Formats: sequence, C-alpha cells, structure tokens
Amino acid sequence: FEGYRSQHNDALGPTKGGIRFHPDVTLDEIKALSMWMTFKCGVVGLPYGGGKGGVIADPRKYSQAEKERMSRGFIEAIADFIGPDKDIPAPDVYTNAQVMGWMMDSYSKLRGVYSPAVITGKPLSIGGSKGRSEATARGCVITIQQALKELDRPVENATVAIQGFGNAGRVAARLLSGLGCKIVAISDSQGGIYDPKGLNVDEVIVCKNEEGCIHNYPNAETQISSEELLELDVDVLIPAALENVITIQNVNQVRAKVIAEAANGPCTPEADKVLTEKGTLVIPDILANAGGVTVSYFEWIQNLTHFYWTEKEVNERLYEKMVTAYEEVRRISEQYKVDRRTGAFMVSLLRIAEAMEARGWV
Ligand code: NAD
Repeated sequence: FEGYRSQHNDALGPTKGGIRFHPDVTLDEIKALSMWMTFKCGVVGLPYGGGKGGVIADPRKYSQAEKERMSRGFIEAIADFIGPDKDIPAPDVYTNAQVMGWMMDSYSKLRGVYSPAVITGKPLSIGGSKGRSEATARGCVITIQQALKELDRPVENATVAIQGFGNAGRVAARLLSGLGCKIVAISDSQGGIYDPKGLNVDEVIVCKNEEGCIHNYPNAETQISSEELLELDVDVLIPAALENVITIQNVNQVRAKVIAEAANGPCTPEADKVLTEKGTLVIPDILANAGGVTVSYFEWIQNLTHFYWTEKEVNERLYEKMVTAYEEVRRISEQYKVDRRTGAFMVSLLRIAEAMEARGWV
C-alpha cells in the first residue's frame, strides 16, 4: 500500500489530524487537509498545528484481520514521525476507534512504553474520551445556539433542515430536537423526508438503523430530494454530508437564515459571496465542526495526565471552548467588516503568526 502523513505548521504545538483509508487518497489532498487542520485548531485556540494522513486502499474490501495488518503496517512506517509531542493522529474517513486501538498498540510496542497520547479517538477502555463520538455535532449545535441568540431568534421551535444522517447529522438532529427545535427535513445519500410539523428524530434513527435509509420512513408528510432540502425556508440549514453542495447554481434558492457547516467545504467560494451579500449567517466549517478535534485535545490531556473526566466535564469544557471561539470570530468579523469565514481565518492566522514570531521564525 501507499500512504502519506503530512504536517503543515507546528508553530502552536504538535500537529494533529486524522488518518483516512480511501481508494482516492492523493498526496495533494492530504497536504490540503493538513493545512485545513492548522486553521481549525487555530480558530478554537488549541495548542496544535495541522496534520493529516491517508492510505490508498478501500477497507470495505478487506477482512478485519487484513485491516488490522494494514493499520499496524502504516503506523510502523510513520512511527518515527509521530508521537504525543510531535504529531497526533485520529480517525477520519473509513477509520474508527478500533483502528486507533490497533495503531496505539503498535506504536506502544515499538517504543516499549504504553503511549495512549500518541493517537485520539480510541475506544474508552484504552484511553478514549467520554463524549468524543458526539463531539463534532455537539460543537456544531453550540455554534447554532449562539447564532440564533445573535439573531434574536428562540431555539425553541426553530426550524432545521439537515443534509446527511451519519455521525455528524444524526447526533445534531437528536441534540437539536432535545433543545426544542423542529427538525423539518432530513436526507441521506438515498433521499430525504420533510414534515413542516417536525419529524420524530428518534423514530427516524430507528428507521435508518433498521432499513439503512430514511426515505421510506412512514410518518413524514412527504419525501424530498437532498437538493430540495437545501432550498427550504428554514431558520437553520446544516449541510452534514459532502463538499460543494451549495453552488452558484442553487445559492439564490437557499433561504435559510443560518447555515452551520458541519461538513467540510459545503459552500463553493462563489456561492459564499452570494450568501454574504444576502446576509445569511454562515458558521464556517473550521468553526462549526471543530468540536471533534476539541474533544480529541481533551482526550490527549486525559492521556498525558492519566486522569479521566466525566462526560459532564467534557461537555462543559467543550461548551466553553466553542462559545469563546464563536464570540472571537464574531468580534473580529464585526471589527473588520468581513464575513464569518474570513473572520475565522483571521482569528486562526493571528494566533499562528504570533507563535511564529515569538519563536523567531519570521
Ligand atoms: P458519515 O459517513 O457518518 O455520514 C455521512 C452521511 O452523508 C451519510 O448519512 C450519507 O448517507 C450522507 N450522504 C452522502 N451523500 C449524500 C447526499 N448526496 N445527500 C445527502 N446525504 C448524503 O460522515 P460524518 O462523520 O457524519 O461526516 C459528515 C461531514 O462532516 C463530512 O464532510 C466530514 O468531513 C465532516 N466532519 C465530520 C467530523 C466527525 O467527527 N464525524 C468532524 C469534522 C468534520
């Protein structure tokens, strides 16, 4: 197999970012994603730079034992370049807690010491953090609460449409519904459902688990395509599936007041400009989906100190980090009269530049 590990900028601390197993992995993609991680860590104020890794492989074709050998082989190949104070991988596309467990074990064996802090997203029994699997969606929901507050709109009964019903979309739907929002539309790769009265999220999750899709869920008013969902007149739209779904072709039909980018890169740069002109409040991906890497940071701290937090503690600290980051991005965007994406990059770049200057790099 061919695989890569890219480390973009380590001015603020060790680099951090996931490892993906995918047949389309390329070196350029991994390099770009590592840069993305630098900005994501910077915006939330984590003491990390950006990293990313990938192996060109389709793990869906392999047995469990083959996947284990591939995971261990990759970590053995990059062991000299990673470490708890150097570069800390995590899960990404088609890698999960089990893969992280094998990788941590191989690294620990190579080094001859138990090293849980070398990698995050591990199973709870070997140093994973409580709240990690829900963290991306929880962080996204916190930014949505802040955005609605800013627009003077109550969370109770706010209407929400969610594209994508995987880890990010599903948990966001459950949490928002628990806060009293009306989830009026949900879609996955096979199609979606719509009900202006609000969907019963728990029932939709059962349907997804049992049938593998949601468009046949019987208690919705109507079926809807994933593209139509983007154009609904809702308070909050959450693209939580793919990149480049809001484009110059459909942006004029997008009517949501708030767009929370749970997915990476769901709006094209051209569409982004139109949304800014229309006054749509876009919570950019590097902020909206930074909850995952934030709880990865908490996992690393727990591993380094061997002191484990309760789920309540994890969630409280996540709340504090996300609200602070949201407010910083808002403040700088208002001060320089720029959109929130530019504001988020500014917050991040200022931190990185300050660290680079302090270290005498520039
Ligand atoms: P996932 O694989 O668990 O779920 C993806 C979902 O998108 C699935 O429900 C799939 O059916 C759906 N989907 C695919 N094509 C679709 C289409 N055309 N229309 C509607 N739905 C479609 O992935 P995830 O972990 O939930 O990640 C979703 C997005 O969030 C990705 O962009 C990912 O990079 C980003 N993200 C995730 C995390 C995380 O911790 N999970 C962290 C940061 C960013």
